[in-house]
Amino acid sequence: MKVVQSHKFVCQTVTQLKFHPSQIYCETCSGLIWIPVQSCFVCLECDYISHGQCLNSVKRICASVKVKENPCYVLEICPEKSLRNQNYRCAECKAGISFHTALTQPLLCDYSGNYFCSECHWGSLSVIPSRVVLNWDFHEYPVSKGSKQYLNLMMKKSIINLETINPKLFSFVEELAYVKRLRSDFMIMKEYILTCKDALEAKLLRLLEDRQHYVENSDYYSIQDLMDIDKKDLISYLEPIHNQFLMHITQDCVGCRGKGHVCRLCGQLPELFPFEISATQCEGCYSVYHRHCANKRDVVCPKCGRVNHTIK
Ligand SMILES: [Zn+2]
Ligand SMILES: [Zn+2]
Ligand SMILES: [Zn+2]
Ligand SMILES: [Zn+2]
Ligand SMILES: [Zn+2]
Ligand SMILES: [Zn+2]
Repeated sequence: MKVVQSHKFVCQTVTQLKFHPSQIYCETCSGLIWIPVQSCFVCLECDYISHGQCLNSVKRICASVKVKENPCYVLEICPEKSLRNQNYRCAECKAGISFHTALTQPLLCDYSGNYFCSECHWGSLSVIPSRVVLNWDFHEYPVSKGSKQYLNLMMKKSIINLETINPKLFSFVEELAYVKRLRSDFMIMKEYILTCKDALEAKLLRLLEDRQHYVENSDYYSIQDLMDIDKKDLISYLEPIHNQFLMHITQDCVGCRGKGHVCRLCGQLPELFPFEISATQCEGCYSVYHRHCANKRDVVCPKCGRVNHTIK
């Protein structure tokens, strides 16, 4: 392995390559890589491809460095910087660029808003995080090579708190509101599962291991999550798991069922659980009641004495 600009380059043979060998270009010199006559090195972290002989000229730092040190997104839509601000130079390699001559046409990166030369911007397309979270727009736009690699590596990082960035989305993207409900249920259900021997033995939480952040919090999303919500894939993945948790806690497991609440407004069984649609919680003391019991006029929480307008 050869480390250059924090890339971890490994020489690849034709059979190891993920791409078709006729289309492989060196990202350092933009020339075709003639395999197997020329050696082809690929970065294990970001997939940067280079001729062996070009490795020492690699200028761009591996995208994985920023992913590790400061994983965050530009959340303005294409914040165009102007050529003047860039001194009429490519944002990456500093080659001169201008609209004045055809040879050095500046190319705009839709993610960063910077202009690049044609060596550093190959017109790769990518979904743009700011367009997703602000416009719910999943079209692909042209980005620089560096941005493309960074966005690829960031795809599954759950760092987007939609509730703070754009809470309005929840009111007009139905699927998103539904996923939010499922996720907040998971957080409540987790408490039951973690204290139930049978559920732990059955490894119920493992069902969510592909989306580990769903058992850690209910607020953060990755771009992959949002793309899957848009394609309706996420709901078909989450719903059966939600059902399985629900069945375990409210039906199948005596231990979990015993931790249910009896509505103190009506005293009726079966036990209620805070994640059930028919249940609601007092905002003062978190006692669990039937929604229809709590919503009656002039209801007072028997436990803490709050009147019903504070019961959700
Ligand atoms: Zn790399
Ligand atoms: Zn090269
Ligand atoms: Zn350049
Ligand atoms: Zn249980
Ligand atoms: Zn009740
Ligand atoms: Zn109360």
